[in-house]
Amino acid sequence: MPEIESHRSIEYQVVDRGPQKEGFTVDKSPTEDGLEVSGVCPACHGRTTTPWSYGIAGGKGVFRKKRENAQPSGPRTVACECGYAHPNRPETAWNVGCGAYWTVELPS
Ligand SMILES: [Zn+2]
Ligand SMILES: [Zn+2]
Repeated sequence: MPEIESHRSIEYQVVDRGPQKEGFTVDKSPTEDGLEVSGVCPACHGRTTTPWSYGIAGGKGVFRKKRENAQPSGPRTVACECGYAHPNRPETAWNVGCGAYWTVELPS
């Protein structure tokens, strides 16, 4: 896989990479109340896939009541989940990646 060969083993660092427009795809699931953002991490070049589930993710009850109105559109924050063990990654980190995060504009 070319994506894996280009992966950079940079040190874990939480850094905002800003909006990403190129190289990311958003797949809307036809069966579940959610979607999937996939692409290449702009920091470590690892392939990352982040599922989004509306009405469930985050556990924010205030949004659960508005489930029918939770349209998957607008910018969404995505964190690197390349699956590689980056150096200096804290054990408390919830995701397995380099720590970078960015935003992807979802289609309306
Ligand atoms: Zn990585
Ligand atoms: Zn990364």
